[in-house]
Amino acid sequence: MQTNSKDTICVHAGEQTNQFKSINTPIYASTAFGYLDTEERLYPRYFNVPNQQALIDKLSMLEGSESGLIFSSGMAAISTAIYGLFNKGDHIVFQKGLYGGIINFILHDLERFGIDYTILENNFTESFLNAIFPHTKAIYIETPTNPLLSIVDMAVISEICRKKNLTSIIDNTFASPVNQTPIKFGIDVVIHSATKYLGGHSDITAGVILSNKQLIAKISKTALNMGGSLDSFTCYLLERSIKTLTVRVEKQNTNAQKIAESLSEHPSISKVFYPGLPSHANHDIAHRQMSGYGGIVSFELKNQNADTFMRSLTLIKPALSLGGVESTICDPSTTSHRHLTIEQKAKEGISDNLLRLSVGIEDVNDLISDLYNALKTNK
Ligand SMILES: *Cc1c(COP(=O)(O)O)cnc(C)c1O
Repeated sequence: MQTNSKDTICVHAGEQTNQFKSINTPIYASTAFGYLDTEERLYPRYFNVPNQQALIDKLSMLEGSESGLIFSSGMAAISTAIYGLFNKGDHIVFQKGLYGGIINFILHDLERFGIDYTILENNFTESFLNAIFPHTKAIYIETPTNPLLSIVDMAVISEICRKKNLTSIIDNTFASPVNQTPIKFGIDVVIHSATKYLGGHSDITAGVILSNKQLIAKISKTALNMGGSLDSFTCYLLERSIKTLTVRVEKQNTNAQKIAESLSEHPSISKVFYPGLPSHANHDIAHRQMSGYGGIVSFELKNQNADTFMRSLTLIKPALSLGGVESTICDPSTTSHRHLTIEQKAKEGISDNLLRLSVGIEDVNDLISDLYNALKTNK
């Protein structure tokens, strides 16, 4: 298929032909495949069955990668990528502000398996450079971050990695391939929690790694031992979801921008975090590397309690997770960051009155009314 359009790629890339000329990929409900007349040995845990392949082709074309692997969760993708690419004694630089699950993985597992690491205290270029040692093998970033939407310059990171011969890895979950394609900026490995925007309907768990053939081959060897592959039924649902990815995410972008602007003007809100606002600390970098600013808006309430505020909402649902067609909200202080001490929370910028809103595809005026009514009730 010849196109550069993400709209067309989302709908059509990865289509497989079959005798019935079906428009959709059939669900191959089989773990056993004949092998006598083929080179390939198909088996779900080898990451090579038709429903996995259809998804990989679609996602590879979207992100501009040569190849990929589909996992049963975002964390399966992340942990397998790290175990597949690195050895005991290697060192990895992690940026500040990563998803909590990765921090848990680093602290609980990396150390036990002898992989050395540095988690940065800030994301200045100098700090990345200062953390590189002779045994450093990779820089791992996530931009925009959760929940404060900090932005890291992908071109700068990939340049550092090229010069120092390191592998660059990004968690691209928050942006989705609609808003940001890191491989264009020279990043080597792109990971997604497909549970979020790629799935988009808050009903499936999946993950993905996209990269060049050489790195995917290396990760594959570990992947089939760890066994975190995705079943064909969920692959089918994910493929169906991605057909509407651009439509969903573009609507979420415009809704989020309007909500961020509107909340910025409200007297009961003390701070709004959104990369699409000119007041955002790295708006210029975001503008350079993103084609849309995403569907997550975080904000701090001035004099209100986060819990009572959330209970006053009627349309927006207080819930964990993000990226669905329905708007959801949570307070990171009692959810994603609940295990941090008061000092750690302060250091990470997680206050008790911070809220993270995952903007859905509802009418934006209904969402703004819901937020404003909840703000009023609590005055
Ligand atoms: C949710 C999430 C993950 C983990 O994905 P799971 O599918 O829950 O395993 C990783 N990174 C980011 C940024 C996420 O939001």
